[in-house]
Amino acid sequence: MLTALEALERLREGNRRFASGVRSLETLASQARRQDLVAGQAPFAVILGCSDSRVPVEIIFDQGLGDLFVIRVAGNIVAPSHVGSVEFAAAEFGTRLVVVLGHSRCGAVTATVEELRRPAENQSPNLRSIVDRIRPSVETLMETDLKGGTDELIRQAVRANVRASVDHLRHGSAILEDMIRTEGLLVVGAEYALETGAVEVFHGLSDGV
Ligand SMILES: [Zn+2]
Repeated sequence: MLTALEALERLREGNRRFASGVRSLETLASQARRQDLVAGQAPFAVILGCSDSRVPVEIIFDQGLGDLFVIRVAGNIVAPSHVGSVEFAAAEFGTRLVVVLGHSRCGAVTATVEELRRPAENQSPNLRSIVDRIRPSVETLMETDLKGGTDELIRQAVRANVRASVDHLRHGSAILEDMIRTEGLLVVGAEYALETGAVEVFHGLSDGV
């Protein structure tokens, strides 16, 4: 299994290929590996991303079958089943890198901003459960000068929401906390730009945060 930093480099290389319009032959050929994967998998990274149709994880990282263990949910929020999925991958396959992947112009974050400005009546409780998990990140920003604007508020809210999910994964599970401390598990936060196709890792590396 790759180390967390080796895995991160592999993702970065794949994203560079995607953003520049190149697909690797290895990725394209991975369908030929389908039979090899029947007996088992060893994904080198876990990605918790948004359900947004413009952010398909394997495509934007130019990876193939068996490479990534992907969890997608609107707003890349962390609910108990998502923590469980990460625990499963880390324990079962020895995967050492977890990336929370937000993206620009996220509809779930935008919906949360709108909900805070004009609370909707009769909102579905299921949808509310997503908004409620994004809400604390947005509320903090709405106490600042950003509250009047929309574009910059949403830009910062996207990142605040990614940081909140990273922190939740790091501290919401004794199993993951232990793996971070003793087994080299790394949880980082990243943002995909719809505009350029590039992924930027902005949280959880050597900055110590
Ligand atoms: Zn989104």
